[in-house]
Amino acid sequence: MITVKGLISSSQKVLSSRPFRFLVNRLSPKEVILALDDLAGVREDVPAKVRLLSFTLEKLTRMLTDKMGASLGDVQEFLKDPYNRRGLASIIKGIAAYGVTRPQKLYAPFMVVWDFTKQCNLKCMHCYANASFLSAPDELTLDQKVEVFRQLDEAGVAAISFSGGEPLMNRDFWVLAKMASRAGMYVSVATNGTLIKDKVAKRLKETGVRYVEVSLDSVNPEVHDHFRGVPGAWERAVKGIRNAKRAGLEVGIAMTVTKMNYKELPEMIELAKKLKVDRLIAFNFVPTGRGKEAEELDLSPEEREFVLKLLYEELSGGELQAFSTSPFYSVVSLKGGEGQPNAFRRPEPANGGRLTSSRVLRWMRGWKALLLN
Ligand code: SF4
Repeated sequence: MITVKGLISSSQKVLSSRPFRFLVNRLSPKEVILALDDLAGVREDVPAKVRLLSFTLEKLTRMLTDKMGASLGDVQEFLKDPYNRRGLASIIKGIAAYGVTRPQKLYAPFMVVWDFTKQCNLKCMHCYANASFLSAPDELTLDQKVEVFRQLDEAGVAAISFSGGEPLMNRDFWVLAKMASRAGMYVSVATNGTLIKDKVAKRLKETGVRYVEVSLDSVNPEVHDHFRGVPGAWERAVKGIRNAKRAGLEVGIAMTVTKMNYKELPEMIELAKKLKVDRLIAFNFVPTGRGKEAEELDLSPEEREFVLKLLYEELSGGELQAFSTSPFYSVVSLKGGEGQPNAFRRPEPANGGRLTSSRVLRWMRGWKALLLN
């Protein structure tokens, strides 16, 4: 009988075989991406050594899809997204370089969060970057940023998130975001949201940005504005969220959780649903930068557990992707999974019935979102 475990192990056997590793190790990450372009049918003019890899991958894919009752076309459809091709190339290069490991070592970081500038239009009391209105004197020039990007691209990084400071304050952001999306990376931006006017939201979409994460610390505008040091910041951030959704972007709310706001989490979950965002992420307060002067705002272990349990409850309910940057979230998730559905556990068919595609999709979305945060 064919099992998923059996299929994975038979593909691992081929991928970690000496001839396959020899073949892949002779190719750069960009050439492996090229081979997947060829396999996906989006490119034909590839050199012979790249064609040899795409031919081998096609044979392997046919073998696996035949066993699974799927087709090469299904895999090609998945590979139409250049981000999927870059991610898969990093796994293939990782197996060739390090063999099959648990967890699998990748050849390049899957995702890079780039603190792009220290420029920001807000003055948050907990700012770990110590950002200010003007960019720092030692920030990179555009040419230097382009060179950094070239290196990330060559290494095969699959996803890039522009953060800061406020990336939208810096006009170089648009140049680099365009380059990243043209290279096929998954492009996201972490922003305070106040600058996402209607036009900016449309421009983000046109530039190829796929996900926008807006910081919102409270459902109460005064609390948020007090935290953020600028009156009206809450109104503008919420407008930014609405504009981004309207432009067709995927949107998340990032809440830095402290003693001042953790009890508001249930209301924040409701607000996130009302704004129809895709995700809510509770960020750990990191007492560096300006945050050093407010260390006492950090949560106690009991308060953190309260937050994580609430998030997990929401995640299990399935309406909103609710995550935390706390490593302890996985422990709460595993404990919470006892006797109830666990979004991170491989889904089982309900009551001996069929494993529906919506259950599988929900599980996959959960993991994808977790990897991207
Ligand atoms: S925390 Fe973010 S929004 Fe606030 S000042 Fe720092 S960079 Fe700006």
